[in-house]
Amino acid sequence: AILAAKAEGAGREVIAVDPRNTSRRCPACGHTAKENRPTQEKFHCVSCRHKAHADTVGALNVLRAGLVRRDARPA
Ligand SMILES: [Zn+2]
Repeated sequence: AILAAKAEGAGREVIAVDPRNTSRRCPACGHTAKENRPTQEKFHCVSCRHKAHADTVGALNVLRAGLVRRDARPA
């Protein structure tokens, strides 16, 4: 609630998202597997071979989940 108030004060929008699988889902092909995370910091898709930093993948997936929720919200 404090984060939401601060964000709104700064003219930002806050959307809560379900964090499940955000660190395991490939942003390139959508393949979701714990094997996509060989180490804490590496993301390496076992399906399409996409490689990235695990934090980048997590942030991308959280952003996408938020945008999907915002689009689904009744106007
Ligand atoms: Zn992939």
